[in-house]
Amino acid sequence: MARVSEVTTDEPFVAADADTKDWTWVLDRPCPDCGVTAGAVPLTAVPDLLAAAAATWTEVLDGPGVDRERLRRRPRPGVWSTTEYAAHVRDVHRVFDDRLALVLAAPGAEGATFASWDQDAAAESGRYDLEDPRDVAQELAAASARVAERYAGVRPEDAGRRGLRSNGSAFTVTTLARYHLHDVLHHLHDVGAPVPGGGAA
Ligand SMILES: [Zn+2]
Repeated sequence: MARVSEVTTDEPFVAADADTKDWTWVLDRPCPDCGVTAGAVPLTAVPDLLAAAAATWTEVLDGPGVDRERLRRRPRPGVWSTTEYAAHVRDVHRVFDDRLALVLAAPGAEGATFASWDQDAAAESGRYDLEDPRDVAQELAAASARVAERYAGVRPEDAGRRGLRSNGSAFTVTTLARYHLHDVLHHLHDVGAPVPGGGAA
């Protein structure tokens, strides 16, 4: 695939989808970009969809004939490379695994509160730009499998347990899973990969 230009990592980077921005609308209507209708996905379908997404990420990052240098190149200023998107998705899996564990462990009806996650700071401090696509592929698959297993273990009576993000967005276990799933699938769309279960796929 042709790229417009090579961009150094010194270019200013502005994330398109900071967690601090309100993306909760993806729970209410189909995403016009990736085609995913996350709000219609049953919680019980999330583990398999996460597994399908992880398999696609592995193909993108470590499939036959991939050009690792291209995977590490930013297509234009302010847009992550494929490897940076994948490192972000790996960390999204970890963040949501922590959130899910917190919500499931919270006593009482009030539920858990969890902090907003500064994904740009995570990208910078984690030096996503220096990561090796093969390493990221393995770490992403492991993190995805771990959180998928936790979703799969949610008892039906716990699906409505509540969690509150520190910016005020309220989730249940089910909407947390849907929000998480959309993020993972949306970034497959961002890197030009097929989106499992996506309306446009
Ligand atoms: Zn989307």
